Amino acid sequence: MPSKRFDVIIIGSGIVGLSSAYHIKNNNPDVRIAVVDMAPTFAQGNTGKSAAGFRDLFSSEVNFKLSHSSIEFYKHIQEDLKFDLGMKFIGYLFLLNNSDIRLDVLETLSRKTKVKHIDSGSLSDLGYLRLKLDPENKKLLNLSDIDVGILGENCGIIEPELVAEFYYQELVKMGVEFFFNTKVEQYKLEPVNPLDYPGEPFLWQKTHLKSIMTNNGPMEADVFISATDVWTTGLLDSTGIDSHIRPKKRQIFQIGGPEVEKILFGWEQNEGSIMPFTILPSYGVYLRPAPKYKAFWVGSSDDYGRDYSLEVDPEAERSFYENSVSQILQAYFPSFSNSKLTGMWAGYYAYNTIDGTPYIFKDLNIIVATGTSGSGILKGDAIGRIVEGIYSNRENTTLFGGLKIKTSALSVSKREVDREEFVI
Ligand SMILES: Cc1cc2nc3c(=O)[nH]c(=O)nc-3n(C[C@H](O)[C@H](O)[C@H](O)COP(=O)(O)OP(=O)(O)OC[C@H]3O[C@@H](n4cnc5c(N)ncnc54)[C@H](O)[C@@H]3O)c2cc1C
Repeated sequence: MPSKRFDVIIIGSGIVGLSSAYHIKNNNPDVRIAVVDMAPTFAQGNTGKSAAGFRDLFSSEVNFKLSHSSIEFYKHIQEDLKFDLGMKFIGYLFLLNNSDIRLDVLETLSRKTKVKHIDSGSLSDLGYLRLKLDPENKKLLNLSDIDVGILGENCGIIEPELVAEFYYQELVKMGVEFFFNTKVEQYKLEPVNPLDYPGEPFLWQKTHLKSIMTNNGPMEADVFISATDVWTTGLLDSTGIDSHIRPKKRQIFQIGGPEVEKILFGWEQNEGSIMPFTILPSYGVYLRPAPKYKAFWVGSSDDYGRDYSLEVDPEAERSFYENSVSQILQAYFPSFSNSKLTGMWAGYYAYNTIDGTPYIFKDLNIIVATGTSGSGILKGDAIGRIVEGIYSNRENTTLFGGLKIKTSALSVSKREVDREEFVI
């Protein structure tokens, strides 16, 4: 089959691939770009499985810049360009035990973004939240009481399919070509100056990725962008380049019912009276309001015992919800004992197990953007801008709204990422 030739080929049409394509094309209109995905259309990987909460409540400077600028850009799309992204600023409510609170971190955060303390009196006035847990339950389940709430106000929920749709529509208008149902096998390096000698490439030959082999034939480009999330490791392994990430299965359980609805729509502090995205003080259990479905999407950060295997089509485990998550929910929200499990699904986080922040780096002629560690939607636009910064050899990348970041800050060798205190 004849090879198709492009300037840039982006593998992966999730939020990272789409945002990268958008910023490269916007800044380099003459560049011919192809986006390739094994799925029948865009956003079918983890982008479509996300809880899609957004927050700029991060203690690390880098995470703050990535999230804050992306939120501002999405807000601009929705409010100025009038493209609905389902973005609702309902807030993020961290329910904390006094022993978890780092006052210095909160102090720094309140200087950067809108943060509100909610004292235990106001939390107990809600009527449905148990702050001091039943002692037996607390001991058995190893849970913490709630002492205070920290509400991030520049935070909320968004619909990632709509964010992806925005980028996709713009890319089609700009002439970017899409190749769906196109699966890339492993990347195979070739010599830059081939000698046509058996056994090439030799140690002393300069190598690069000249083309990728797909089920629809080979495709060639000068630069390849690997925006393949958890699948990056499998694709890169044969090149000897490390992706530095590991996959971790993450599940969402949709719960509904009349008692759930009362809580979902009973928060009188925002437009729509929708409960904020709420994080309990134990085991990273969170409740993401899904007002469209009159339900909460419940998830957790189960680390111990959750292995790093990667299945083709992961399924959510009802028993995990029933035996592990629902007890924790009911300990804090007693009326959830009447809730119903109305849906569930599973995907993966591409975990950077060292600092929980993305990796964006170039090796040979491959730009790798992965390791979003469960916050790729809320940082998606900034990640694409940094990929463009690398592509265009910029020392600094300007994010939306004017915040600047060193283009190499998220690389492996010149990494400048500080520790994050607000991990979910
Ligand atoms: C349960 C869950 C909850 C989450 N909650 C949040 C949240 O609240 N907020 C948030 O910001 N983020 C959240 N995330 C994380 C977020 O969804 C991801 O960080 C983000 O979607 C990553 O985007 P991506 O483009 O890197 O990956 P993906 O969307 O997975 O895109 C990668 C693409 O690469 C394609 N691909 C892979 N291999 C190949 C191949 N060999 N050939 C061709 N194509 C290939 C795939 O088909 C896929 O479309 C959550 C994730 C999960 C699973």
